[in-house]
Amino acid sequence: MDELNKNKPLEKLDPDFIRKNIKAVTFDIDGVIIPTGTFLRESVDSTELIVRTHKLSREMIEMIKELKKYVWINFSSGRALLYLEHMLEDILWDKVSLIAENGNFILLDGKIEQLSLYEQSYFQKITDIRNDIKKLKEEKPDSIYGFEPKHIIITVHTAKKIPEVEEIVKKHDRENELYCLWTNEGYDIGYKKINKRTALEYLAGKLKIKPEEMITIGNNLNDKEMLDFGIGISVDPEQVSGEYAIPKKKGELGGEILAEYLLGAMRR
Ligand SMILES: [Mg+2]
Repeated sequence: MDELNKNKPLEKLDPDFIRKNIKAVTFDIDGVIIPTGTFLRESVDSTELIVRTHKLSREMIEMIKELKKYVWINFSSGRALLYLEHMLEDILWDKVSLIAENGNFILLDGKIEQLSLYEQSYFQKITDIRNDIKKLKEEKPDSIYGFEPKHIIITVHTAKKIPEVEEIVKKHDRENELYCLWTNEGYDIGYKKINKRTALEYLAGKLKIKPEEMITIGNNLNDKEMLDFGIGISVDPEQVSGEYAIPKKKGELGGEILAEYLLGAMRR
């Protein structure tokens, strides 16, 4: 994508084009269809965990139900699959797929698939990193809140950016095969070769659609590859670019603005 051709206003996306060509829409979740700001607190010895998050608005649930009449709806998140199933229960299951842990898992047509196989050494590395971050948490209990339960990637919630976290990842990752991405509420740590795009390629194959028949919308660094796949819309152009962008505004969710725009195009 060249500079001139990115982060164009959503209004430049032609409603006729949408109605004729778009067959699927992929929504990132946090910061796109729900506000960011998951509250997570884990005890230092990891025996207790509290997680509090947002739900989809009533309006968004209704919009997605209507959108499903026209297109396939996919959600792609860094969150664990179990969590997505609960969070999105109001709009499951027909014409919906869920992608979890930044492209590592997909739940499609009643089946969960793991999209990449890992060596045991990967899991050992992840465990070593996690244990070192836990030690750091003992020193900084007020700025490192704890871990989201996940299978393959690490998500550690923190009060702010903590350079020591990145140093721990570097120390264990001599092969430089891991990412350590700041997500505004912590870090996602996982295998570079697997990202949200990995799962979108799989999904597009299963749905027999082309990338340009899918709209993708996201807000963060972990959405970069996904926004480059298909027609990308960024809702936080300072973090990540898309072909189109919806400017960030307090109290507004870019995902809801897009859903309304798509319905406006489809209903014609
Ligand atoms: Mg997000």
